[in-house]
Amino acid sequence: MISNQPPPEKMMFQLTLRRRGISDQTVLRTMEEVPRELFVEASDRDGAYRDSALPIACGQTISQPFVVAYMTEQLQLQKQHRVLEIGTGSGYQAAVLSRLAGQVLTVERYRKLADDARARLEKLDCHNVEVMLGDGLNLPPNIGSFDRIIVTAAVEQIPENLIERLEIGGILIAPVGPHQGVQTLTRLSRTEAGIERKELVEVRFVPALPGVAREL
Ligand code: SAH
Repeated sequence: MISNQPPPEKMMFQLTLRRRGISDQTVLRTMEEVPRELFVEASDRDGAYRDSALPIACGQTISQPFVVAYMTEQLQLQKQHRVLEIGTGSGYQAAVLSRLAGQVLTVERYRKLADDARARLEKLDCHNVEVMLGDGLNLPPNIGSFDRIIVTAAVEQIPENLIERLEIGGILIAPVGPHQGVQTLTRLSRTEAGIERKELVEVRFVPALPGVAREL
């Protein structure tokens, strides 16, 4: 008999995300569809659907699936949205965003990570994602403004020049806190009246560092 059920590790994956409070069906489906095993190191493939962060090249990490799903859910994405991600890393979060938004620009300071992520995203036909080598804390003025901004590296404060790039009706989400230790996932919403700020959950991200990395 042919079964339409996903493989057991993906069933567990869904269950864990639901138990932890992810309820948006579109986000859950997208998490199931994006092959996380293609974004982790070959030696970690067996554990790709466990709910934990994993090491990637250049001393960085691919985020824990729950955190990816949670941040994505908080962004309330729509198909027409233009999204900016700071911290491409493996490209996994960008792949998730690409299925839910119109266009994604993702910025990474390590050339190797940017190149590897670009190749993976092309292979998965994520044609609406552009991977840019650059410093997400100091972006060129000509990249325009965004409906959604997601920062996936820890910042001590949300940079003013990112807030300025947020459209009215826009949402920005970032881990705010000390570089070492625990940060608070913080959501900013821009309304006609100004900026609303909400602190969400505690998270641990690698730090956002200035400049393009000198290493590869
Ligand atoms: N979103 C990634 C995980 C991010 S890890 C994923 O889905 O795999 C954080 C990433 O942010 C690292 O790759 C790190 O090199 C990058 N980073 C840190 N500071 C940065 C900056 N100023 N500009 C761009 N990328 C930065």
